[in-house]
Amino acid sequence: MNLKEEFTVYGVKQKEEGFYVFHEIVEFSDPLDNYKPTILPPKKYLFPQQETLLRFNTEPYPEIEPVIESKKQLIFGVRPCDIHGISLLDKIFTTDHEDVNYTHKRKNTVIVGIDCLKPCYEYAYCESVGCSEVDEGYDIMMTDIGNSFYTSIKTTIGDEIAKKYSKFVNVKEEDKDTFLKLRKKRKERFEKKFKTDVSNLPLLFQNADKDPIWDELNDKCLGCGRCNIVCPTCYCFDVFDCMDLNMTSGERCRQWDACTLKDFAVVATGENFRPTRGHRLRHRFNRKFNYLMTKYNTSFCVGCGRCSRSCPVDIDVVETVNAVIKNSKVDV
Ligand code: SF4
Ligand code: SF4
Repeated sequence: MNLKEEFTVYGVKQKEEGFYVFHEIVEFSDPLDNYKPTILPPKKYLFPQQETLLRFNTEPYPEIEPVIESKKQLIFGVRPCDIHGISLLDKIFTTDHEDVNYTHKRKNTVIVGIDCLKPCYEYAYCESVGCSEVDEGYDIMMTDIGNSFYTSIKTTIGDEIAKKYSKFVNVKEEDKDTFLKLRKKRKERFEKKFKTDVSNLPLLFQNADKDPIWDELNDKCLGCGRCNIVCPTCYCFDVFDCMDLNMTSGERCRQWDACTLKDFAVVATGENFRPTRGHRLRHRFNRKFNYLMTKYNTSFCVGCGRCSRSCPVDIDVVETVNAVIKNSKVDV
């Protein structure tokens, strides 16, 4: 049996010059360890852009059938930032209420990570938010140490896969030294960073409601929602029903939503709680560095830089956070 008979296997390929995507692997080749973050993060295999939650009939009597789509899948070559992103989604979709559509997929997913030893591109600041390395949330992690991959196996399924499908040799002392040296060096290589420790951000953002940066961003932002859509930790969705033409049966679906879109906070009576683009961006930054960070005690931005790269008007997370730090009267 080979890996592809047991799992649907996803990996990374270059879609066009400099742009990469996760896709289903047909042929195995060497792992891509120098790719820039993919356009969409691998969360799309756990929390798809659109999915059916249930099917219903209204005749001859009302009937509801839950739909949970899940298959054995292996995602190959996931970077530390995206592994952190998935661990944050694990918290979101299991705390208070279990989201079974997510957890079924997650339980059926094997993650094979590929370590980063330097910034993968100019937008990365994962080091600033403690996400440039990862010690859990994966099944197997590979680090390119030059002549081989230093491999760490975290779970029973990871161990089974490694034994079944790979040829491993025991780590030599010099390989371990090389690995530890490379890891240590990594920290110094990141130039893009916040001008304060990430743990100070909740307090800074709690006092930044009237910061002039939100007016500046209000004038600049287009409200296009791209920053949300590419983000590995954004998880908001909208729920809607699609009726069949017979008008007696249909599906209830969910689809990614974006808090930077104009109608996101419109309520039934027509009011919009976040009517301007500035309000909406302020909310987005508070979600990453204040509200969820306070609740879960960890940054809800993993520093992948996808939102900064994809913003059509170059709104950059690090520049925005550093502006809040600079404008703040809070002494941290
Ligand atoms: S907010 Fe931006 S940098 Fe942070 S995780 Fe989301 S896409 Fe990546
Ligand atoms: S991608 Fe840029 S322009 Fe679009 S909503 Fe986000 S911040 Fe605004």
